[in-house]
Amino acid sequence: MNSSQTRTICPYCGVGCGVVASTTAIPTKAGASTATVEVSVTGDTEHPSNLGRLCSKGADLAQTFQAPHRLLAPRIAGNEVSWDDATSHIADRFQQTIDKYGSDSIAFYVSGQLLTEDYYVVNKLTKGWLGTANIDTNSRLCMASSVTGHKRAFGSDTVPGCYEDLEQADLLVLVGSNLAWCHPVLYQRIRAAREKRPEMKLVVIDPRRSATADEADLHLALRPDADVLLFNALLVHLADAGQLDKDYLEQHVNGFEKSLQTARDAITPATKRRGDSLSERLGLSHSQLKKFFALVERCTKTVTVYSQGVNQSVVGTDKVNAIINCHLATGRIGKPGMGPFSVTGQPNAMGGREVGGLATMLACHMDLNNAHHRDTVQRFWQSPAIADQVGHTAVELFDAVAKGSIKALWIMATNPIDSMPNADQVERAIASCPFVVVSEVSSATDTMAKAHVALPAQPFGEKNGTVTNSERRISRMRSFTEIQGEARPDWWTISEVAKRMGYADAFSYPTVADIFREYATLSGFENNGTRDFDISAYASITNAEYDALLPFQWPKAAGSNDASNAMSATVVAAEQPVRFFANGKFYTGDRKANMLPVAPQATATPQNVQHLDQTLNTGRIRDQWHTMTRTGYSSRLMSHYAEPFVELHPQLAKQQGIATGDIVKIASSHGHVLLRASVSDRQQPSDVFVPMHWNAQFAARARIDTVVDDRIDPYSFQPAFKNQAVSVTRFPAGSFTYVLSTEAIDMNNCHGIEYWAKAPVRSGWQMELAGSASPKVMLDTVVSRLPLTQAAQNATLRSVEFTDKQGQEHRIAFFIQERLVAMVFVSTTPVALSRSWAAPLLDVTDGTVQSRWQLLAGRPTADMPDKGAIVCSCMMVGEKEIEAAIYKSSCLSVAEVGRCTQAGTQCGSCRNELVQMIKRYESEQRNVEVA
Ligand code: SF4
Repeated sequence: MNSSQTRTICPYCGVGCGVVASTTAIPTKAGASTATVEVSVTGDTEHPSNLGRLCSKGADLAQTFQAPHRLLAPRIAGNEVSWDDATSHIADRFQQTIDKYGSDSIAFYVSGQLLTEDYYVVNKLTKGWLGTANIDTNSRLCMASSVTGHKRAFGSDTVPGCYEDLEQADLLVLVGSNLAWCHPVLYQRIRAAREKRPEMKLVVIDPRRSATADEADLHLALRPDADVLLFNALLVHLADAGQLDKDYLEQHVNGFEKSLQTARDAITPATKRRGDSLSERLGLSHSQLKKFFALVERCTKTVTVYSQGVNQSVVGTDKVNAIINCHLATGRIGKPGMGPFSVTGQPNAMGGREVGGLATMLACHMDLNNAHHRDTVQRFWQSPAIADQVGHTAVELFDAVAKGSIKALWIMATNPIDSMPNADQVERAIASCPFVVVSEVSSATDTMAKAHVALPAQPFGEKNGTVTNSERRISRMRSFTEIQGEARPDWWTISEVAKRMGYADAFSYPTVADIFREYATLSGFENNGTRDFDISAYASITNAEYDALLPFQWPKAAGSNDASNAMSATVVAAEQPVRFFANGKFYTGDRKANMLPVAPQATATPQNVQHLDQTLNTGRIRDQWHTMTRTGYSSRLMSHYAEPFVELHPQLAKQQGIATGDIVKIASSHGHVLLRASVSDRQQPSDVFVPMHWNAQFAARARIDTVVDDRIDPYSFQPAFKNQAVSVTRFPAGSFTYVLSTEAIDMNNCHGIEYWAKAPVRSGWQMELAGSASPKVMLDTVVSRLPLTQAAQNATLRSVEFTDKQGQEHRIAFFIQERLVAMVFVSTTPVALSRSWAAPLLDVTDGTVQSRWQLLAGRPTADMPDKGAIVCSCMMVGEKEIEAAIYKSSCLSVAEVGRCTQAGTQCGSCRNELVQMIKRYESEQRNVEVA
């Protein structure tokens, strides 16, 4: 057996964890045409960002990196064609469109999944050769407000700090960030630091009591979008408490007095009426505020980490500046353990920012609005044109498609039909566009269904290039598996189209390393320290050096640390983290930072429609990625949450007559979804939370962005995916169904079945359904859709069936010989059956599955006990097993639970759920003692 190891990067989030992919070629079996290659993925202990750690998604990479519906050849109108035909067709259509309607009639919508080299080439083509800036990236949806906030304050989009600061801080303030679930390895680093230094404090600011908030010293459940007011109040407090760094302000900052006065005005109650006090406007108590202010006052080493809860708002940029104001005023920036720190969502969101992936930017942190920058870039590229005005940003771009002014659209590595706000409108817009190209790994995304030309892209495993993570660390993503079918790098595809449009001179890159060298050279071109982004030390690295490139943090200007140093592991290990602005030197005209006077504004969706009286917040869950196009096919990752759900407070649930397990309708003025109810006091009574991930492949109507308005921040153009006014009502389902089947079932367009959601299990699929149909109609419809026809024709199919006297409960199970192949449980109430017990029944292929009637009774047996809802998806450990360890075996620490059950012993993403279960037990014991 041949084995090899490749150091590469996890493709799932902006933490940017290094992984080691090990491939082992299994010898070809007699008769088999190709050898099998086994892949395993572990954390890279030498990567500085994760030092070997992984979360559940990273740990499951070997299972998820090959999408099940790979697109393996280019297609035009659904028919496979050669690359030559596909790229010629795109070039012709683009040229015809430009000739007829002008350059601004075409647009690109790209993604933080692209490698930096892909991003660079598509931006170069669009802005330099096609002469339009109509290219935006899905990173607009997650962190454009941070970009704009940075630029307003620092004059550049600079993240001043590094991950080590999060470990070195005495106080960590997480704002709008469920770090434990969304950036789990970063959170693991924080947790480890707190174990070493228990005095390190953690404050979580989030309307929802998230998994991260569970472990905080202080949780501030402030009102949605009240962040500007809170940080205004903090600034005033710090000023009044004499905590400002007057020297730093004097030497390095403009705008302090005005910002402080604006903050004072903002926090002063307009009246003495109820509801007007500061704490009431924030939704926090006086003592919570006092405690928070005292912590910040006391801890010079404070890091404020923020992500989507800050950025995804119509006042996202102001929130960012309100946070930065406090750091500038106290000089707490760019020093160990201090600074504002925005964390990005996607693996290469930062790379996209650096390379000018947004419609408002040029490559290497240069600005489209800056004539000098435009000239610099054009002269470097020697391009025939340079876009001279900003292009359509994401929401504007799809609006322009809907209005017909964009006639040709190329979408790369993203799924806007699910991820854009007002998603049904975006779907209609794309469907109406005369020419749509989609570059994708999978042929089964909701967006791919609208493509006129489909281009097979390369996934993790085949991709080869660079990415940048949230701490400005550039790492190599290296290929380690054979390229499947005709898949090609995105930079190659773009270059082939460019060549066919007559631009061969500028787009004939022999290798990906040539693109990186050009990009590194541009970063240093006429820079002389005037721009933050400079990696010109790598401008002339060889292909071999590029292949062996070790992770490094920018800047790396020519002469500062030559590329050969980055070849040496000892040099990288010894490198000091790179920080900005401890001594000022901002990238503004006078090299001083700007404090921005930012005042709170009303932000909720207009309440003109009276029934929209709840607030919807959307976000990620622990084990899913984006719109589930990869992680949705992992039975392990889907075991944590197998259905789209809405989390709502018990008070709201009672008011609306909703119980856990019911189906709930969430509606805004232009869309609705149907979701499973999860009643929890983690929510405020006025708020509900819905995960952002579900697409139309996995559920009937759970694309939550169909409900979200397309309101945007006026400075960053980032949409507000939170603080959305909605109505919340119980959907009156007449029947509920659970289906287990070895084959996937298509339940689209079934009359009376309004809700369905499916999830893979190890040996098939499980499905949840509900609807207005009667139980009998539901049963007949579902059974008619079971893919059992072949087996039935072979007359090997057997079934057992049960119906109660009232005709309200139906259960049927199908067997081929002794193997269970499908079962359907129908009831008038949510089906009470342990899913974690049922799903493994499909795994039993040797005829030892428990008696057919026992199975139909839905009762676990001693040999197949019910483990309860899965908590640890790495080791597939259920809630009941963990409870048994805690309650019966007195395992009262995560380590002891791990020893007993193996839960939490792999990636540790479930750790805080284990901590909560232990805490619950301890609290129950205390109550018993008191009683
Ligand atoms: Fe991948 Fe998880 Fe690391 Fe993010 S935190 S890069 S998803 S392993």
